[in-house]
Amino acid sequence: MGRKLLLEHINVPGINTFDVYRSKGGYASVEKALKMTPEEIVEEVKKSGLRGRGGAGFPTGMKWSFLAKPEGVPRYLVCNGDESEPGTFKDRYLMTHIPHLLIEGMIVSSFALGANTSYIYLRGEMMPQVRILERAIAEAKAKGFLGKNILGTGYDLELYVQPGGGAYICGEETALLESLEGKRGNPRIKPPFPAIAGLYGCPTVVNNVESIAAVVPIINEGGDEYAKIGIGRSTGTKLISAGGNLKKPGVYEIELGLPVEEFIYSDEYCGGIANGKRLKAVVAGGSSVPILPANLILKTINNEARLMSYESLSDGGFVSGTMLGSGGFIAYDEDACIVRNTWNFARFYHHESCGQCSPCREGTGWMEKVLHRLEYGHGKMSDMDLLVDVSKKIEGNTICPLGDAAAWPVASAIRHFRDEFEWHVTNASEATSRNYGLAHY
Ligand code: NAD
Ligand code: SF4
Repeated sequence: MGRKLLLEHINVPGINTFDVYRSKGGYASVEKALKMTPEEIVEEVKKSGLRGRGGAGFPTGMKWSFLAKPEGVPRYLVCNGDESEPGTFKDRYLMTHIPHLLIEGMIVSSFALGANTSYIYLRGEMMPQVRILERAIAEAKAKGFLGKNILGTGYDLELYVQPGGGAYICGEETALLESLEGKRGNPRIKPPFPAIAGLYGCPTVVNNVESIAAVVPIINEGGDEYAKIGIGRSTGTKLISAGGNLKKPGVYEIELGLPVEEFIYSDEYCGGIANGKRLKAVVAGGSSVPILPANLILKTINNEARLMSYESLSDGGFVSGTMLGSGGFIAYDEDACIVRNTWNFARFYHHESCGQCSPCREGTGWMEKVLHRLEYGHGKMSDMDLLVDVSKKIEGNTICPLGDAAAWPVASAIRHFRDEFEWHVTNASEATSRNYGLAHY
């Protein structure tokens, strides 16, 4: 059994209430952290090797140490709970079932960063979670863990929950800050990074829900202990949202370094592919990362199995980023249509593009149109090269990563499943009739 640092008590009845959470050792990290200096806390987080759990995998301790500290200027901690990545639902799960873990992490992290006002920004559709968190915040405040003079230490912290309007782009950290300031959620050009000029132009750290929750075990057990879990630069545990054609979809906490094959097929995790089918492909980190065929995700490299880690899930250098992403693990069985799935993702990105950059605004729409005609039996053999060409024109030429996120799934699907795209052209009438009656816009 892998260690559970975040979800250990998730099934305890009443764990969403302060009293039950406290009876399981909750808020101990606040008591410990408030006796440390902020610098000591940052040092523990650095030692832990914790990397951002929202998708980019940027080292959290390093991000914290970049925070500017000009005299007389407020600093902010903003928790990014805008989780909108298709296939990703682990933050929502954590906030729904164990909200005090996030609040505990927010208090420790805010103290470490010198923030006296902090925000949890949630996507607009998460109104139940807004209410859950607001209730938990009120409980923590009534017990002296929030507000003025926390536990008599002289440290003040106000914590607010802010729902967005339901736009995917508001999960991008600078768009989120714009939205939090009451403006349209358009991403800003970076640099400056939020650590220098963030909310209201002040130094701000934006961290994902799971990253902030992970600060709790790091402070309780120490950064060195946390770093002993995992493999190489992928330390600690990670929440994975498992979906698609799996026998047991759900949210799992894994130790980083778990073999992918074990994650898919063992009964401790997903229990294999549903209905006895074979695995065809996997998207390991939410829709923003390339799709990998089963033979690539399950094969060994240098006699080592593919692992659930930031380093091991590469696509042979096709893209440079980590394929673990936000941990949105989608499995496709042998019957899944890769063309339809690729069109579906393209439709999503076209709809969610904020429209600021022409390559993204025009390119996502173009890709969606071409994929639509391929899926519905009106495609041409030249369409695949056209799609790759358009995706290359988007990649690296936009303000925010949404452009890359839209380009990679299309390019990787064609790279690995070109024969399936060609089948849609050569068997156009079958492709059309197969889709007859399926919902489309
Ligand atoms: P990024 O690599 O640009 O930045 C990562 C973090 O490090 C940011 O907070 C950034 O401010 C900070 N940073 C980087 N360089 C810095 C520097 N020099 N100084 C100070 N701070 C610095 O990536 P990103 O835009 O934050 O995230 C992209 C990822 O988000 C994608 O890979 C995707 O997997 C993921 N994503 C997740 C969701 C979700 O719902 N969880 C949705 C969409 C995308
Ligand atoms: Fe907007 Fe797309 Fe440009 Fe991001 S890449 S700023 S979503 S147009």
